[in-house]
Order: sequence, then structure tokens, then C-alpha cells
Amino acid sequence: MRSTLLSRIMADETQEAGGIHFPFPFTPYAIQKDFMAALYQVLEAGKIGIFESPTGTGKSLSLICGALSWLRDFEQKKRQEEERLLEAGAPTSSDGLAPALGPPPSCQGSPGTPEATGEPDWITQFVQKKEERDLVDRLKEEQVRRKKREERLQQIRHNAKLRFAAKRMRQEDEETERLLRLSSEMLAAGTEPEQVASGEEELVLAEYESDEEKGVPSGVDVDEDDLDEEHVTKIYYCSRTHSQLAQFVHEVQKSPFGQDTRLVSLGSRQNLCVNGDVRKLGSVQLINDRCVEMQRSKHERKSITEEEEPTRRRRRQEPRATCPFYSHERLQLLRDEVLAGVKDVEQLVALGKEARACPYYGGRFAIPAAQLVVLPYQMLLHAPTRQAAGIRLQGQVVVIDEAHNLIDTITNIHSMEVRGSQLCQAHSQLLQYTERYGKRLKAKNLMYIKQLLYLLEKFVAVLGGNIKQNPNTQTLSQAGTELKTINDFLFQSKIDNINLFKVRRYCEKSKISRKLLGFTERYGAVLVPSMEQPKLSGFQVFLQSLQPGATVAPATPAEAEEDRSPRPASPLMHVEGFLEALTTANQDGRVILSRQGSLSQSSLKFLLLNPAVHFAQVVKECRAVIIAGGTMQPVSDFREQLLAGAGVEAERVVEFSCGHVIPPDHILPLIICSGPSNQMLDFTYQKRGLPQMMDETGRILCNLCNVVPGGVVCFFPSYEYQHQVCAHWEKSGLLARLTIRKRIFQEPKKANRVEQVLLEYSRCIKHCGQARGTETGALLLSVVGGKMSEGINFSDDLGRCVVMVGMPYPNIMSPELQEKMAYLDQMLPRAPSQARPGKALVENLCMKAVNQSIGRAIRHQKDFASIVLLDQRYASPAIQAKLPAWIRDRVEVKATFGPAFAALRKFHREKAGLS
Ligand code: SF4
Repeated sequence: MRSTLLSRIMADETQEAGGIHFPFPFTPYAIQKDFMAALYQVLEAGKIGIFESPTGTGKSLSLICGALSWLRDFEQKKRQEEERLLEAGAPTSSDGLAPALGPPPSCQGSPGTPEATGEPDWITQFVQKKEERDLVDRLKEEQVRRKKREERLQQIRHNAKLRFAAKRMRQEDEETERLLRLSSEMLAAGTEPEQVASGEEELVLAEYESDEEKGVPSGVDVDEDDLDEEHVTKIYYCSRTHSQLAQFVHEVQKSPFGQDTRLVSLGSRQNLCVNGDVRKLGSVQLINDRCVEMQRSKHERKSITEEEEPTRRRRRQEPRATCPFYSHERLQLLRDEVLAGVKDVEQLVALGKEARACPYYGGRFAIPAAQLVVLPYQMLLHAPTRQAAGIRLQGQVVVIDEAHNLIDTITNIHSMEVRGSQLCQAHSQLLQYTERYGKRLKAKNLMYIKQLLYLLEKFVAVLGGNIKQNPNTQTLSQAGTELKTINDFLFQSKIDNINLFKVRRYCEKSKISRKLLGFTERYGAVLVPSMEQPKLSGFQVFLQSLQPGATVAPATPAEAEEDRSPRPASPLMHVEGFLEALTTANQDGRVILSRQGSLSQSSLKFLLLNPAVHFAQVVKECRAVIIAGGTMQPVSDFREQLLAGAGVEAERVVEFSCGHVIPPDHILPLIICSGPSNQMLDFTYQKRGLPQMMDETGRILCNLCNVVPGGVVCFFPSYEYQHQVCAHWEKSGLLARLTIRKRIFQEPKKANRVEQVLLEYSRCIKHCGQARGTETGALLLSVVGGKMSEGINFSDDLGRCVVMVGMPYPNIMSPELQEKMAYLDQMLPRAPSQARPGKALVENLCMKAVNQSIGRAIRHQKDFASIVLLDQRYASPAIQAKLPAWIRDRVEVKATFGPAFAALRKFHREKAGLS
């Protein structure tokens, strides 16, 4: 059977990739079929795919149906192969799995074959036989487990009574609580208990603590390990924002895979926690710490033996809280309900509240059996977070969507900044912690704490400050930014004699920052000793209480609780992140010393130059990785900076780029090199502020607004330039001329105003469309990389024309960019005819920003828009090559304004009938 199936698939591969059956909710566009077929092949062959599909082309659905079709076939093949092996009683191949089912060659190791080990034949055969038997046993176990799970999920899906088992359990709990309360009230109201006769005591029931109260689940599965199933082959899908992830989950729900896919949505505790007391702590770090602390209390309680318990009880001052939502039995039920039907984060939280079970852990426990895991970038791209969440990438598929900024994202996740105030706070807290507990600490603990104190002191000194003084009032003599290699920084700070790897491991294992956080929370804010405060802080009160004869009571945890939320996370945690960054290889990062006025405002920042080091594990462990986005051009960055740097051979990388779904005549992209008065359009930094340049830009916009109906969105390279131009137009009277045709809106700097501005903008366009007066719509002045250049759709009348004023090159004078350019020039090979890698980086950053902004218009098949690029530099073939294919293929360069205007007028007149 297997060979027939394989040969069919082989035939598909060779004949026509489209031969694979892809369930789809409607007849897919041709480009969607191509996308799915290409995706299937990449997953099957274990490659790394860079997929580009413009927004509005149904990329999410293509990803879902393509990837889940592959998983469907993969699982089917695996089962068939297992059945064959079980029937035969033993495998025929030495690795126990048919080649098609094992990991693809790219992620396989190369263990020596038995023959190659040089053992005698009988040993080799014995070992082989044993392996075969073990494999068959394992397969049998797996089959049983899978069957059980499938039955359980089927029951939940088809049995409404079971579906809400967790809810029922909660209701039972509430009823028990009610009865208990009633009983206690009755006891309290009753008379003195009757004296029992001697020997009768043993007949009286001893005080009863239910398993649940003791933190041990009453079900059969008492150990968390029982929740740790084998991880089936799955797809990890990650995207940038929670709303993008929720949108993706809704697409899965609507797809033909919506009923049967085991999907789990992961998120941070901040998004998923349902314990009100913990949630109100506000910051991610505090929520994480409190939750972990509570789990630890629970496990500690579980591990205390019966004999230990009385002594422990006496010793313990206050019982530590455990989370009532962390009950194994309910978590298991929640896990099953999660797997039984596709849910987004919101639905998961609602279910968790209903069932009184933690959605964060319920989701985590669902990972092993899930087929599709939906999670934010941070959880996948940061190795410690990944491990903490229980994600295992070995042999799995990863899809990274909205990946146009993937390199920046990885860089930002791993670039750490620690401020002078944090260094001082961490030092002060550690010092006071040592004063309080020093005598109880073991020598090794003290040694590492001393090293940490020393490091903090030196970090402050290298910034030019003094750890013993108030960071807010300490003015630094030097101001400015200095950039160092890691080694130079270590030497200059005089900490090159300290083994940072060991210190880092100590911090990780001892959980020192967590303890310090608990310590400061217990006794209120800890301040630098010399800081002058009008009132005594909680910690000072506490210190006073330790003095002989003190009368001031220490702050109680309850009092401390009042001013707790939201409080910034432990400063030592930031320092730990910085220390971890300093263990990066010397050539892959830099340290930026930023000295700004006072010590508290100054900072040390680690800048990651080589994001590939953090992506290497993902591409090495995964079976296949898909990097997808609406505008992935220019892709050379991904290939060179990320994949080649992570050790991926060029042959393993596959590129796929599809056109747009719109007919070719629905888009008019123009590069305009000069304006109506023949002024050459050159928006370089030196020229763009010239009055004639700003006048010419205004004239072009006036002309455009005369012929474009509805909304015109105009992007400027920066807020500053936009304001400069507007102020100039106001003076020259051009703004007044513009308002004859279009009402003018400006992108707000504050994020919370964006929605309101967009609402008014779209209302105005709608109103003008109906009124048909001289005002024909609105003009939105926006900024590249601002709040309107990503994630907002200017479909239909909201964006009939998108204008890009100049080229948004990043600030080439920034030391960070200069360092990155120098790094790339040094590390990447340069072909003789190509630009230096550093220069290419700057161009690519600029064009990525342009592509993002102009991709805001054209959002569906019937949409149409003109795209106008103002700057003669766009005419360069090298720059045009960096435009998305669907624009690049149709773009026209207009040396003068006349023909450009005529083309625009014709385009919009013709299209007017369509809208
Ligand atoms: S176990 Fe869940 S509900 Fe409880 S504190 Fe932790 S995240 Fe919140």
C-alpha cells in the first residue's frame, strides 16, 4: 500500500504539483492554487520557503489549506507505515521508519550504521533486533494513546454533556463550598461540642482536607508528567500581533479544516491569566513571577512528606497562596476542550473562566497533541521563552507570517538596554538583601552575589557614575554615545576577569532576581540609601523595626499590596538580560554606552548585529520553515543576513512570489521625476527642505486631488518633514488651495488618536461621495513607518491614490546603523557588480518601508488605485528591482509631469465607472 501511495505522490511531484487535493471554502484563485502547491512541496521536501503574496490575495487561507493538507497526507502516510510495521511485527529498514516518514535529509543527523561501528555480526544483529522490538512496542503504545485521545475528543465534540464537563465540575465545587460554609456557620452558631467519653475519640472523624485542597488532584493522574504527552508532528504558526493571530484563527474556523483541527492558541500570562488578583499586578513580569511563585508553593506543599508536615507548619509563618485555577483535573478537561474545537485567545479565556481552569496552562498542556499551534513571535523566536512554554521544534514545521520585519524583530528581541537607575536599584536591593539574609546564605551564594554587586558597580562606573549616590541627581561630566565591541567593553569596565557564563547560570538556577523581587515586594520599595525621601519607605520602616527597641511595626504584606499595582519589574531582571547578551560572541554584537545628563537617564545597550545566531536553532531543528508576508521584497536580506548566517545552504531555500489578484489595468504605478514647473524631484536630505521642492510637491498634490476621487493617502519620510512642508504650505496658501477638493487630515503622533482620525477620514470620504459637491474626498498626510503605514487597510475609496514623497532612507548617521553596515561589509561576500552589503542594507530598509506603505491600497480583487512615487531616484533599475513583483511589472517612469498627469486622469476617469 505504501509503495502505491508513495509512487502516486512521486508522480504528482514530477507531473504537476497541483495534483494534490486541497480542500478550500470556495474556488481558489489561480495564485492561491500555486501558493498551496508550492507550500506543500516545501514542507514535503523539508526546505525553507520565502513566500510572498500581496495582501488581499487570501494568503492566510492559502497557508491554512496548503499546510493542513500536507499535514493530513503526512499523518495518513505515517499511520499506513505504522500499520505495515505492526503487521510485519518488525521494520525492514534500519532506522525503523520509511524514509518518507523520517525527518527530511536536511535535519537528520548522521549516526554510524551498525556495520560502520566495527562490532561483530551477532552483536549488530542483536542490537538491531532489540531496536526493532522497541520500535514496535513504541508504535503500539502510540497507537493506543492516539486512539484514546481521538475517542475522548470525539466524545467531547459530539456530546454536549461532556463538552462542559469542566463547567460542571466548577458548579460541583461551588456547591461543595456553599455546603461547607453552611456547615461552618452552623458550627459557629451551635453550643459547645459535647464531651466524648474516653476511647470514643477514635470514632470521631478527623479533620478532613480534600485532595483538591491539599493541591493533589483527586483524579487518577496525579503527576504533571502525565500531562506531558509525546509531541505529534505539527505546524507552529506565528505572527506579530494578537489581532493578527486572532484573525488567523477565525480563518481556520471558517475553512474546511475548522471542524477537525486540533488547534491551540498560545499567549502570555498577561493575555491568558484568569486570576483577578494576579492580573491586576499589571506588568508581564510581575504576573509571571507571581504565577510561578504560586506554582512553586503548590509543588513544595505536594513534596512535603507526612512526617515533615507538622514541623514545617510550625516553622512557616504564613501559608503561601496557590492559584485556585491551577487544578490538574480541571486543566486536563480544559486541555481536551481546547483540542476539541478551534478557539482564539478570547474564547480560550472565556472557557477558562467558565471552567475555573487556567487557560495559560490548559493551552500549554494541549501543545503535544495539537496539530496547529498559534503563537506570537516572541514565544517562538526567543529560545528561553520557547523552552519555558514547552515548545519543541525538532522535526516540526514553523510558519512565520507578516515576516517582512523578521530580521528587525529578532534583533529587537535580543537587544537589551539597562538604564543607570536600574543598575543602582539592583545594587541597592541586592545589598540590602545580603544584609538581611547574609548569615543564612551559603558561601557560594555569597560569592556570586558579591560578583553581581561588583558588576553593577563597574557598569555604573563605566558610564561615569558612582553607585553610592542618587542616580537622579548625579550629573555625568561626559555626554554622548560611545560604541564598543563586547571585549572592549569588558576590558574598559574592568570585568574581563569575571566568568559571565557562570554568573548567568547562577542567576538562572538560583532565581536570584525572583527572590529579590519577592523581598522588595514584601517590604515595599527599596531605594538607594542616599536618596532623600520625604517619607520613610516600606523598606526603611522594616529596617527601623530591626533596631533594638524599635516601636514601628513592619509593613504587612497587605499594606504593601495596596500600592503594588502596577509596579515595574525587578531591575535585576533587566541586568540579567544584559549579562546574557554580553555572552554573545564578540563579533556578533556591540555595546552602546549612552551618557545623557543624569546617571538615571543614561544607559548601556546591547546591540545584536547578527540575528542569524538566534535563528539557527529554529532552522536546524525544524523539518521546514516558511517565512511569509505580503511584501517580502527585497528578499536578499533574508537569504544573506538570516539564512546563510544561520548555516542554511542556498539549495535548501525556495522563493515563491505570486502576483496580485487584480486585473493588470486596476493599478497604475508611476515614478515621477519632475513636477509641473519642471523642478527635478530630488528629496535628498540636502534638497528636500528647499522652498521650490516643497512648492513643487504641493502643486503635484493639487493636480492629483483634482482628478482622483475619494481618498488620497500621502506618505512623508518623517514627522518632522511632514510638519515642515505643512507649515510652508500654510504660509504659501497652498494648503487652502488643497482644501477646495479634499479635506485634509494629518496622522496623529499619539496612537490613541489614530482610530478617531481614521473614522473621521472615512466618514468625510463617504459623505463627499454622496454629496457630489466640489469637495471630492479627503487627503491623509501620513508618515512612513508611522501608525498608518502598517496594519491599516486603505481599500476602495479610502485609498484611490497613494503618494510617496521622497525615499525614506534610515538615518545613516546613527551609530547603530553604521555599525551594522560595517559588520555586513566585513562578514558578507560582495559580488564585483553589486553594491557593498552595508549600502544594500540601507537601500533595502528604505524600500521595505516604501513597499509596506504603498501596499496599503488594493486590498481585494475589485479594488483599484494609482501609486505615485515622487523622486527621480526611484527611476534607478536597482531600486525598481526592489519593488514587489506586481508593482514592478507595471511601473512606468515619467520624466516629466505632463504625461504622468494625463495617465492618471485617464486611469481615474475610466475607473470612475467601476466604483
Ligand atoms: S495559574 Fe493561570 S490563572 Fe493562575 S496565576 Fe498563573 S496564569 Fe493566572
